[in-house]
Amino acid sequence: MDARADEVTAWVKKRIKPEQVTKYMDGGRDFIPEAQIEEKLRSRKDPDPKWIREILAKSLSIETLDPDETAALLNVRDEGLLGEMRKAALEVKLKVYDNRIVTFAPLYMGNRCVNNCLYCAFRKDNDEAVRRTLTPEEVRKETEALAGRIGHKRLIVVYGEHPETGARYIAETLKAIYAVKVKTRNGWGQIRRANVNAAPMSMEELKMLGEVGIGTYQVFQETYHHLTYKMVHPEGTLKSDYAWRLYCMHRALEAGVDDLGIGALFGLYDWRFEVMGLLYHARELEKKFGIGPHTISFPRLEPAANTPFTRNSRHRVSDDDFKKLITVIRLAVPYTGLILTARENPGMRREAISLGCTQTDASTRIGIGAYSDRYSEQEGQRQQFLLGDTRSLDEVIRELAEMGHITSFCTAGYRCGRTGECIMDLLRSGQEGKFCKLNAILTFREWLDDFASAETRRAGEKVIETEIEEIRQKMPKTYPHLIEYYERIKNGERDLYF
Ligand code: SF4
Repeated sequence: MDARADEVTAWVKKRIKPEQVTKYMDGGRDFIPEAQIEEKLRSRKDPDPKWIREILAKSLSIETLDPDETAALLNVRDEGLLGEMRKAALEVKLKVYDNRIVTFAPLYMGNRCVNNCLYCAFRKDNDEAVRRTLTPEEVRKETEALAGRIGHKRLIVVYGEHPETGARYIAETLKAIYAVKVKTRNGWGQIRRANVNAAPMSMEELKMLGEVGIGTYQVFQETYHHLTYKMVHPEGTLKSDYAWRLYCMHRALEAGVDDLGIGALFGLYDWRFEVMGLLYHARELEKKFGIGPHTISFPRLEPAANTPFTRNSRHRVSDDDFKKLITVIRLAVPYTGLILTARENPGMRREAISLGCTQTDASTRIGIGAYSDRYSEQEGQRQQFLLGDTRSLDEVIRELAEMGHITSFCTAGYRCGRTGECIMDLLRSGQEGKFCKLNAILTFREWLDDFASAETRRAGEKVIETEIEEIRQKMPKTYPHLIEYYERIKNGERDLYF
């Protein structure tokens, strides 16, 4: 399957289409005004508590904050005021997403990459990496393990930037994932939503992937700081083009892919600046297209095999700053989903969930082919970085249930067309919960019956009982319909939703 070096070079040369970048720019300038951001961060030191409380009230009305307000939150140091911010962040999350948490697994399709990002074990100059790209048959095996043994319904499928894993391969492997259906304890398992984390693509490729069903299209800018971006993405590589990456969400929206995830890799530059970058990105998309990011990710730089940069960065983010940045993102872009990953250890994950995160991965394996291989050797050589939490989905769900959260495997919104502008309106008005609460109960019931250990089942059922009682009291007209579906699911029917 190995592509020849000259084929790879020819492929790289054709990737970037400058006209699909410049058309969005303002006189050659992008929408990250670096000097202005630095100035706002400097001038909003020691903000007035009264102003901070007004900002919190604005977040609670589910309005995106402006850059001055976000800079002010980033500069709060008073412990009492920080406590008020954390409380408001959780309130915002509950208002928009209630007590639901979505779980997913990342599925890495290969580790061949034409880039040379200093922080990544997949970079092309890492000659200790054992390279591999999954074949459609291997993709099927991985999906069977995820959907049939572990019980995932939702994936983030991760593709490196390489001709072997280009748009056609993405389309082919997504079809292979959706085709898998596996018998489970009481029903059957299937991946119902495959989100894609991939390199920036052209409008033509995005149109093609939109037709296959790309899910949420995630591209992280990594760092919004131009000079740092240049430093960590060596010149001459595809990824060194800051603007091609920055404007890929614009291209996606124009191509009809309207469910988008942005993110930054925290630890490359000053974390406050990166939060501002994410905010400017969200506001730019809202302004130009009326659709902000459906999710924001905030991975922290983690050690990676044979990748010294990851251990030496002077911008590593402390635990306290990490919690603060999650709080501020939650408040600044109140409607968005926040994705917390297994890079973080269990203790940090517990704290971060209470700051308003909405999605998290579990049973995570990031080695290529690692869900079905069950190998242990060479795992370090096959993965992009090291994980902080290797607990099973069952353990994570049990802990979430004990904390009062219901794990939702619902993917109905996407399949009913509740994406783009429609989902934005539902999220902002707090109405998405009407469908989601019901679907969370139904999908959680499925999962408990098909995959849960006895202990997790007990913890999960307590949560379900509380949720059903809430529906009985607050939505009496819908209640009988819910109970009908609920009973049918207990009898082995699957994939019923509102
Ligand atoms: S971060 Fe992504 S683009 Fe960069 S080397 Fe790693 S896989 Fe390739």
